Amino acid sequence: MEYDEKLAHFRQTRLNPFDRGEEEDQPEGGKATQQHEASSELFSETKTHSSDRTMDLGLAEDHFSRPVGSFVASDIEQLKLAIEECKKLILELPEHSERQKDTVVKLIHLRLKLQELKDPEEDEPNLRVILEHRFSKEKSKSVKQTCDKCSTIIWGLIQTWYTCTGCYYRCHSKCMNQITKPCVRSKVSHQSEYELSICPEIGLDRQDYRCAECRTPISLRGVPSEARQCDYTGQYYCSTCHWNDTAIIPARVIHNWEFEPRKVCRSSMRYLTLMMPRPVLKMKEINPLLFNFVEELVEIRKLRHDILLMKPYFITCKEAMEARLLLQLQDRQHFVENDDMYSLQDLIDISTGRLSCSLTEIHTTFAKHIKLDCERCQAKGFVCELCKEGDVLFPFDSHTSVCHECSAVFHRDCYYDHSTTCPRCARMTDRQQDEVEEEK
Ligand SMILES: [Zn+2]
Ligand SMILES: [Zn+2]
Ligand SMILES: [Zn+2]
Ligand SMILES: [Zn+2]
Ligand SMILES: [Zn+2]
Ligand SMILES: [Zn+2]
Repeated sequence: MEYDEKLAHFRQTRLNPFDRGEEEDQPEGGKATQQHEASSELFSETKTHSSDRTMDLGLAEDHFSRPVGSFVASDIEQLKLAIEECKKLILELPEHSERQKDTVVKLIHLRLKLQELKDPEEDEPNLRVILEHRFSKEKSKSVKQTCDKCSTIIWGLIQTWYTCTGCYYRCHSKCMNQITKPCVRSKVSHQSEYELSICPEIGLDRQDYRCAECRTPISLRGVPSEARQCDYTGQYYCSTCHWNDTAIIPARVIHNWEFEPRKVCRSSMRYLTLMMPRPVLKMKEINPLLFNFVEELVEIRKLRHDILLMKPYFITCKEAMEARLLLQLQDRQHFVENDDMYSLQDLIDISTGRLSCSLTEIHTTFAKHIKLDCERCQAKGFVCELCKEGDVLFPFDSHTSVCHECSAVFHRDCYYDHSTTCPRCARMTDRQQDEVEEEK
């Protein structure tokens, strides 16, 4: 559920570069105003107010970048209106005058703009497969989205657009043939290992001063285009391939137990989001030292270990199967399979305390079934064969030790180290020897 929420959030909020805070919009707003001024200056002598409006609509490019959903329909209508007004103006102006020539140019611009917004073909296939992306045609008309290829707004009302069902890459129909980046979903399934060096920078020179993804020339001075670093790959990208999205970086978590989100490029963002719930981190191999100073990790390791000890009870107990007890862990299937693999989501939830809460609760439910509620499971408890005293023991009880050979359970105080002989194992060895003797 956590993962789905994340994806939904990712899809809703990340994809519109124009959908930023007010202040960040200002430089663009400023540009629009300048253009507006330039255009009204050009037509300062024009008598009618309507022609001013015409130019405003046609020239101020950023006018069309305003991210207001309901804006779409009226904009296209206004664009059509502006074209009509422009045509009228051309007839009214003196023939061959500079102003008439200018207006003709504006008319061409306006028509191109309208053409650009409209899609040529109406009936495009519902499914298209390109570079392992599986693109499915979107029906939604009203949402404001941004094309991952060209970084401009997708006008759902008149433009056909597609979303990849694997990685959520979304794109204008007209931009699909220019896609160069294969689907990260396949990367997630084929190469499911994280980069575990912290921001492994190689330097702009080694990238030939080009974007690591699309090869656009870039530099840190912003000439000809701004270079943005991705904290996950360490490489530099252009502003089309890097939208200043932020994500928690696995390498920083593993090495520093650091969860501060860092700026990443679009494709890292997609990859990290898809990888988030996958249990690919073998903590005790990658950084065993972490267990020495992150208490929460030790607690989770113990809970997971116990759950694995409870599992054999559940898979042989009809009642537990019917109550679907193990399904309580369905969001973290790997917890039922092993106790050493972690997903990045697990580590994030450990740091916030969420995992400890939910896992303790599950642990309590499980223990209650085995020790209190279910007679069948209770019958599979152990009596300490070393002291033959006290309550029935279970392997996940805190004060117990388990024989690694035969899984018999003892008080920890009775079976305190490996030098203790397990009576059950000893009995079995005796029996085997007897059988061998009999055969002679
Ligand atoms: Zn596009
Ligand atoms: Zn894809
Ligand atoms: Zn690029
Ligand atoms: Zn049971
Ligand atoms: Zn004992
Ligand atoms: Zn034993």
